[in-house]
Amino acid sequence: MSCPRCQQPLRERAVDGVPVAHCASCEGLLVKTKHTIRLVQALEKQLETAPTKDEVIEPVPHDGVTLSCPSGHTMVSSGYMGARIAIVDRCEACQVLFIDGREVEPLVRQYARTRARGDDRREHLDKEHEAMSKRVDAMLRARAATKSIGGGGFGF
Ligand SMILES: [Zn+2]
Ligand SMILES: [Zn+2]
Repeated sequence: MSCPRCQQPLRERAVDGVPVAHCASCEGLLVKTKHTIRLVQALEKQLETAPTKDEVIEPVPHDGVTLSCPSGHTMVSSGYMGARIAIVDRCEACQVLFIDGREVEPLVRQYARTRARGDDRREHLDKEHEAMSKRVDAMLRARAATKSIGGGGFGF
């Protein structure tokens, strides 16, 4: 299984119990879509400094390159949680999400900042995440319907 970004071998590991495939070369992370929120929460615990609610998070510029998942499907880019801070890439067929190495911390800080703005918004945030995932999944399904794709069987 190779990295969508740099084609180096991905190594399976766990981040606080959440299974991911990690690229040691670009620090990218491939995660099952359903585990994304758990991964972000696990990584939030590892932040050296917690973001304040007013922290400015610089968006990570997207290079516009279309990535392929390790099974060779075309991945679709979208802003994580509807924001443009980190543009992540998904494969609907394999139900995986790829986070570029340089996107990991801004993405986690974005999540943490939203929480810092009020724990009462936590539920709202998770709902937002879910709604975003559903929108993207629906879009991907519409695309996938136009071509035949095989499922990818990843062990992580
Ligand atoms: Zn890589
Ligand atoms: Zn795929």
